[in-house]
Amino acid sequence: MNTKKERIQQLKEEKNAVILAHYYAPPEVQEVADYIGDSFCLSKLAVQLTNPVLVFCGVSFMGESAKLLNPEKTVLMPDATADCPMAHMVDKAVIDAAREQYEDLAVVCYINSTAQIKSWSDVCVTSANAVKIVRNLPNKNILFIPDRNLGHFVAEQVPEKHFFYNEGYCPRHEFMSADEVRELKEAHPQAQVLVHPECNGQILDLADYIGSTSGIINYAGEHTECSEFIIGTVSGVVYKLSEKRPDARFYFPKTRPSCPDMEQITLDQVIHVLTTGENEVAMPPEALAQQAEQALSNMLKLAK
Ligand code: SF4
Repeated sequence: MNTKKERIQQLKEEKNAVILAHYYAPPEVQEVADYIGDSFCLSKLAVQLTNPVLVFCGVSFMGESAKLLNPEKTVLMPDATADCPMAHMVDKAVIDAAREQYEDLAVVCYINSTAQIKSWSDVCVTSANAVKIVRNLPNKNILFIPDRNLGHFVAEQVPEKHFFYNEGYCPRHEFMSADEVRELKEAHPQAQVLVHPECNGQILDLADYIGSTSGIINYAGEHTECSEFIIGTVSGVVYKLSEKRPDARFYFPKTRPSCPDMEQITLDQVIHVLTTGENEVAMPPEALAQQAEQALSNMLKLAK
């Protein structure tokens, strides 16, 4: 009898499909993926790949972005209920009020957002490219949505611009405990603290390095003089970290930061969607899709 891994390989070949997995997906899912990455890397890849079927092991906004950028491809979500709470945390009234007040306003939208929210925006960003893109925008006034923590982090790097924030946040990073990170620092004084900019300000103040998930992985990979790291992001990232630095030790806060939506994805679900074609991401209505795709394409252009 075939193992699940073999079955997935067979189905991928039959359907000419490719599996993309986010760093926060469970380890066994990352193991069968053709590509593992953060939102930016996966959205760039989705455009470059020629396979007609993309299986996206992530949350719904990721599948939506892949579909917007690849309307001709079939995008399948192993778990159609996997969603990101932050992706919905914007009220259109906040955007309308800011646009009315500032003529040169740019609405900068973190890619962790629904297609509807992207369609209200001028450009998308990820945590890996937000600073670069905002710095290069001609606009002085920036409304950053939906994540206020990432917005504040970007504003610190680009002090020449005037920022407005929206009250959105990732619950997994927002509620991480700074006391638990301090405890880890005391227990492991040689460890460097690497954190994601979606974390609350108290955690960011404790960091040696602040960056995207791929930034954290690369930092640990490059800093071979250090063999202990305290990690301030979702614990699924340890799969790739351990692959990059098998010699190093990684510590997470005692209340382990996990993203239940990402972690609920299973190999059985991957097999199911590859077999049945269920959970295909539908293209949003035309006008909305065009505007959202424009914001995503602006990101890919400005991030070059
Ligand atoms: S970790 Fe946070 S931002 Fe990322 S998908 Fe989960 S809830 Fe959303």
